[in-house]
Amino acid sequence: MENGRRACAAMGTAHDGDDCMARMKPYVAAMLAMCLMIIGNGCTMRIGQKAPGAIGVIDVDGTTTSVRPGGDAEAETRAPKTPKPEATPDPNVGLPLQPTLSPDADASAGTTPDPNVGLPLYPTPDPNKPMVALTFDDGPSKNTTRILDVLEQYGARATFFVVGTQLEKFQEITKRASELGCEIGNHTYNHKNLTKISPDEIQEQINSLNALILTATGKEVTLARLPYGAGIKDKTVKANVPYPLIMWTIDTLDWSTRDTESTLKAIRQEVKDGSIILMHDLYEATAAAAETIVPELIAQGYQLVTVSEMFAAKGIPLEAGNYYRNAFGQ
Ligand SMILES: [Zn+2]
Repeated sequence: MENGRRACAAMGTAHDGDDCMARMKPYVAAMLAMCLMIIGNGCTMRIGQKAPGAIGVIDVDGTTTSVRPGGDAEAETRAPKTPKPEATPDPNVGLPLQPTLSPDADASAGTTPDPNVGLPLYPTPDPNKPMVALTFDDGPSKNTTRILDVLEQYGARATFFVVGTQLEKFQEITKRASELGCEIGNHTYNHKNLTKISPDEIQEQINSLNALILTATGKEVTLARLPYGAGIKDKTVKANVPYPLIMWTIDTLDWSTRDTESTLKAIRQEVKDGSIILMHDLYEATAAAAETIVPELIAQGYQLVTVSEMFAAKGIPLEAGNYYRNAFGQ
């Protein structure tokens, strides 16, 4: 009864026994209802604010701003806000492009599976929209950074056919390219014409670079481009380079002209859906051309994708021992 008395006193009513408690019931009920409304509203607001963030982490709609590995402070702080899945998903199901993107810290520390682990940074190319594959040979070099900057800025990617002697000097750049969703292909250890060396030497050219690429990117090589395009019909070369051999549709001749405008002109004159465009990321003029052509092609409606992505989107299988000049299809 003492509690009832205090409560009645607090509410400015006279205490007269158990009736006081009875009179208080509506007030208590009203207070409870108010509390529930406040809590409920708070939850609603939090959920409403959370959902867009969660979508941003998962979908990133073609940009690179949200979850770039290595710069993952944002991803790590946002990840816990993501609603937990009802069942534990296999993070690799249906997500072959970027299976190892999640920061290592997350992967090793996690007792709770992070639903973002294994999700691709970039959306799968839309097969109903035009696409091209920009390819850069003979690097990486200091100029590759400019190309990666513009690719990152526009949520685009390219394929880099690297050589071992350059990769040894610019390992971090190769790592960054891979993390941006770019593809790294084998262009031999030191750019040998494979038709002029022995089978053992061919294998050494390919295998030593494969090891360097794996170390830099954590990924296995799946494509090769033969130096000078030499050997695509050579049985010995094909027997010792066990990858699809990627040629090109448009040769910009950038290595010869070292001229930005002529590189741009070559692309503008010939580009069409399914093109593979050959450039070389050793040259400043080529980096400058990339800075112009990337936004230009995107404005024209092209998706800038890797070679493997383009062939997959077009339904054209890439097979070892075959060579490919384009993804035009039948
Ligand atoms: Zn080359």
